[in-house]
Amino acid sequence: MNYELVVGLETHVELLTKTKIFCSCKNSFGDEPNTNCCPVCIGLPGTLPKLNREVVNFAIKAGLALNCTINLNSRMDRKNYVYPDLSKAYQISQFYSPICTNGYLELSSGKKIRIHQIHMEEDAGKLVHKSGDVYVDYNRGGVPLLEIVTEPDISSSEEAREYIEKLQMIMRYIGVSDCKMQEGSMRCDVNVSVRPAGSRTFGTRTEIKNMNSVTFMTKAIDYEFKRHIAIIESGEKVVQQTLRYIEETNSTQSMRSKEDAQDYRYFPDPDLVNVSLEKSYVNRIQDELPELPESRFKKYTEVFGIPENDAMLIVKYKNVSDFFEQSSINLKNPKMISNFIIGQIFRNIETESDREKFDILITPKQLNKLAILIEEGKLNMNLAKKTLTKMLETGKGIEEFVSESDMKGLSDEEIEKLCDDAIKSNESAVKDYLDGKEKALKAILGFVMRQTRGKGDPLKIEQKIIEKIKND
Ligand code: ADP
Ligand code: MG
Ligand code: ZN
Repeated sequence: MNYELVVGLETHVELLTKTKIFCSCKNSFGDEPNTNCCPVCIGLPGTLPKLNREVVNFAIKAGLALNCTINLNSRMDRKNYVYPDLSKAYQISQFYSPICTNGYLELSSGKKIRIHQIHMEEDAGKLVHKSGDVYVDYNRGGVPLLEIVTEPDISSSEEAREYIEKLQMIMRYIGVSDCKMQEGSMRCDVNVSVRPAGSRTFGTRTEIKNMNSVTFMTKAIDYEFKRHIAIIESGEKVVQQTLRYIEETNSTQSMRSKEDAQDYRYFPDPDLVNVSLEKSYVNRIQDELPELPESRFKKYTEVFGIPENDAMLIVKYKNVSDFFEQSSINLKNPKMISNFIIGQIFRNIETESDREKFDILITPKQLNKLAILIEEGKLNMNLAKKTLTKMLETGKGIEEFVSESDMKGLSDEEIEKLCDDAIKSNESAVKDYLDGKEKALKAILGFVMRQTRGKGDPLKIEQKIIEKIKND
């Protein structure tokens, strides 16, 4: 029998707000344990939470970027459970009326992964296990999160990978989260079930908690897919449960039987007022959204004629894409810039995180100037590439390496004269060329290029030489 994989993802992203969601403690990663805490975020009795407006703004941005309906009325609820990283014994989240619903994220195949909802919530603290002891760090307690929940629309681990990578990209573009999986600012719960191909009912699902690497997530999905099939084929039933993924053995292990919503005794948080938004407020945020990666990709491929793979490499990193945009201003052919970035600049920036940072010495303006000189025919590609290498090493502009007179390029009269000289001085090559030896032309061209020390456009000069030889 053929089986079909069904996956739904619940992704948590930590927001880049300055302060926490319900108090004014600093929201920052990697500080000394328990230094960013106050009576509100550790839940001392008698304290009252107050919702951070920036969290609401970020939720609206994320919702709009993921094509959701923004609900003008929403509310915070308490999710009750007891665990040492949660000193209040409840997490403030949204259950009954989340802020965003009914969106989608489109994959490159055109398939839409529907977003069931996006809700705001607070993160819990962190347990630190050290030499047999357990410590708790409440710095993360009260850090704002968005939870982005898909419908079970994903049908392969590759689609799951693309979904996560696109989601990461979008969140970074709109500045809501840095989505660093290795630092835990993006974490993913993966729900997996299996059903006979073509069937319309769902199989029993298992949920793998807290995946923090895309590669391991795809491995975990593939592992669960096989495991479910093996169970079904042996005539047994898949047990609904919560699992953890074990990297060392590439397998999953049971954490607990699956809890239901009713286990959490959700109820509206009486300490917080409802979130009530004006439509005009949402519209204003919509107007301020930056251009999203999808639309940049379309522009690069369809308008600028950049090959899809190259366009993807530029769009993938917001800093690179911003640099590209700024250095392409007033260019007829922005493809030249993407070639420089991918061919020359990326050569020394190899890792994903370094490309993400895109810390380079030159400014977009400097690259723009170089490109404009090329387009105006004042600088040939060879010299431009050599100059760019020097610019990248020093951070200095083109003026430092190419003289004013060289930058002016060659006038038509100069080219005429150089070609005449070259033809005179290379009689035998001219004869060879006329005898049908195409290669002989290179010798004549080389002669001209040496005279100009690399200046001038080789293509243009070559044409001129041919023209002259044929007319003689
Ligand atoms: P819970 O809140 O208990 O985790 P939800 O019904 O809210 O459960 O669903 C959580 C996630 O599980 C969603 O992303 C949803 O798409 C996914 N999901 C639900 N049913 C299935 C299923 N049978 N197979 C795979 N994923 C599923
Ligand atoms: Mg869940
Ligand atoms: Zn606090």
